[in-house]
Amino acid sequence: MGIDLAKESKVNKLICSGEPAGSIPAVKRQLEEAWGAKCGDTAGMTELGTIMIFECSHQPGGTHIIEDNYIEEVLNPATDEPVGYGELGERVVTSFGRGFIPVIRYRTKDMVLKVPASTCTCGRTWDIYDGGIRGRWDDMKLIRGTNVYPRAVEAIVREYAAIDEFQIYLWRKDNLTDEITIKLEVKPGFESEWETLHRGLSKDLANAHEGLRFNIERVDYGVLPHFELKAKRLVDARPVAQYSE
Ligand SMILES: [Zn+2]
Repeated sequence: MGIDLAKESKVNKLICSGEPAGSIPAVKRQLEEAWGAKCGDTAGMTELGTIMIFECSHQPGGTHIIEDNYIEEVLNPATDEPVGYGELGERVVTSFGRGFIPVIRYRTKDMVLKVPASTCTCGRTWDIYDGGIRGRWDDMKLIRGTNVYPRAVEAIVREYAAIDEFQIYLWRKDNLTDEITIKLEVKPGFESEWETLHRGLSKDLANAHEGLRFNIERVDYGVLPHFELKAKRLVDARPVAQYSE
């Protein structure tokens, strides 16, 4: 619509929730530039009735846990043993604030990595989930023996400002090998960057996934679904995945 939000709007704070975007550095940068505003991540759960983590104005790259309302444990999802600071695990939450529906050691399947409060310079004593909610354990896909998390793929894709919408498409080749294709739309006016983008993105994705080969496919602008809320950017078209659904 031709409105320069950074210059013409009075918005100076963006509160992001419901998507990992607010804690993905490249997405956060793009949001802050587009709006000329500071961006902070939060997350809430319907089951808990409210927000349980938030990012403070010091932007430590993660979200403080509201520890006077929640006990947040991080467990190894396979062994159910607690993991320490700096280790990925599953969020298990006990809420003090839901009298009618007690939520005790509720398993969320959220993937988190807890770091000490002192990681942030703001002075709060509440521990932090580095990178916010990093995804869900059941989001993980196994492609030719390599773990692939949609959020990790998004973090790489969003480093390329020329990309507009994208989709992670999993399929089976000749009924034999699993393939992963990133379908993407290039922003109008950025078409000349395609060659460089294609090479760079293939390399970055492979490097972050033990050398796994990603297919990169450009589709016409407007072909992929564009989301306003709760984006679904992963399509699993493999026969087994369809069967299990
Ligand atoms: Zn802080």
